[in-house]
Amino acid sequence: MRERFPLNRTLPDEAVPAIRVAQALAKAGHAALLAGGCVRDLLLGAAPQDYDVATDARPERVSALFKTTRHVGAQFGVVLVRSGKRWIEVATFRADGTYSDGRRPDQVTFGDAQLDAQRRDFTINGMFLDPQRLEVIDFVGGAADLRARVVRAIGDPAERFAEDHLRLLRAVRFAARLEFAIEPRTAAAIRAAAPFLARVSAERVREELERMLAQEGRSRAFELLSGVGLLTHLWPGAWWSDGQRAAVAAALAGLPPRVSFALGFAQLVCDRRPEEIERIGRALTFSNVDRETVLWLVEHQADLDDPSGIALAALKRLMAHEAFADLLEHARVRNAKRPNAGARTAALQHRLAAVDPALVRPPPFVTGDDLLAAGVPQGPQFKHILDELYTRQLDETLATREAALAALRALLG
Ligand code: ATP
Ligand code: MG
Repeated sequence: MRERFPLNRTLPDEAVPAIRVAQALAKAGHAALLAGGCVRDLLLGAAPQDYDVATDARPERVSALFKTTRHVGAQFGVVLVRSGKRWIEVATFRADGTYSDGRRPDQVTFGDAQLDAQRRDFTINGMFLDPQRLEVIDFVGGAADLRARVVRAIGDPAERFAEDHLRLLRAVRFAARLEFAIEPRTAAAIRAAAPFLARVSAERVREELERMLAQEGRSRAFELLSGVGLLTHLWPGAWWSDGQRAAVAAALAGLPPRVSFALGFAQLVCDRRPEEIERIGRALTFSNVDRETVLWLVEHQADLDDPSGIALAALKRLMAHEAFADLLEHARVRNAKRPNAGARTAALQHRLAAVDPALVRPPPFVTGDDLLAAGVPQGPQFKHILDELYTRQLDETLATREAALAALRALLG
């Protein structure tokens, strides 16, 4: 089956570097098409993130035809070609061989566009665009599925998920992002293959989670993960009660469109103990910053619940943290369903507005050198005194260095 139809839209300027590559390949006698996600997004009227080229030219031929190239996945037939300021991914039409690691084909064989369409994951991702004629070439029924708004595996869904288990998460990510349904047979195959997710490397799972949580459809992504049974395979011991699931979905839905990964992820684990969050962060290979930020957000999530009750020094210590904006959002979604949410937020805003920005993170009046000069011996007491004096400074009960030194003498008195 092959369907050809006009794109009915001009290509955006961002497509120019990829079009140039395709034109050069065509001039050299090769088939060269835009492929995959960019065709999907163009048909949806959305802006593609990147434009990939697919061709019948072999990788060595692609390298020979262009001045600047990089071999990133030559064994899979992928060459990066420099075009203007961009690197364009040029992939030779191929069929993937057997998969023994659940992620990558053992070998590939080069072929034509139709064969190449069959190895792609979902019908909506399996279309090509001839950039010269502005014609879509669809071997897999992708256009019909775009209209029907479904994510459907190409070929036998069970086989496709058994080959490459990462596709389990990709299906959910695309369905969530596009607000598509997962076609029932595809969904059933995901459910059956869900335990395979445990075999996917933690890095890849984290990357997919990052993408899901970064997009606006993050709440939908969470609900879909739950619905197809993937949620409990995200990491060892991942589990949410029905009530917790509903709360997480509501919190994710309440976040602003763009959020950090840490803030998004914090919604998933906001009622877990720190040791467990630490363990999950390590299991999913979070960066140290992400892991510590999630921990910090959960540790301090209740601190702002009573805006008038928090000490000025404690408030400033929160405000001085890099993720304070995230904490505010986290506190807001946490409180959204509580009574007086509006009044609470207003009270917090009022409290924050009253804090002098110059006094949030001031240099300390009294330093370690002052303590040494005053003869305070090194030890736990030393840090305690420094902390105490800085807290009073933040609380604005000490307004000058002289007052702070007097307080030091009094403490030592
Ligand atoms: P995005 O907009 O998120 O980048 P995309 O569709 O471009 O979405 P990519 O991960 O960039 O997705 O992959 C480009 C194309 O390569 C896909 O559209 C699909 O045709 C194919 N593809 C990517 N990953 C897989 C996979 N795991 N299995 C099969 N085909 C894949
Ligand atoms: Mg892409």
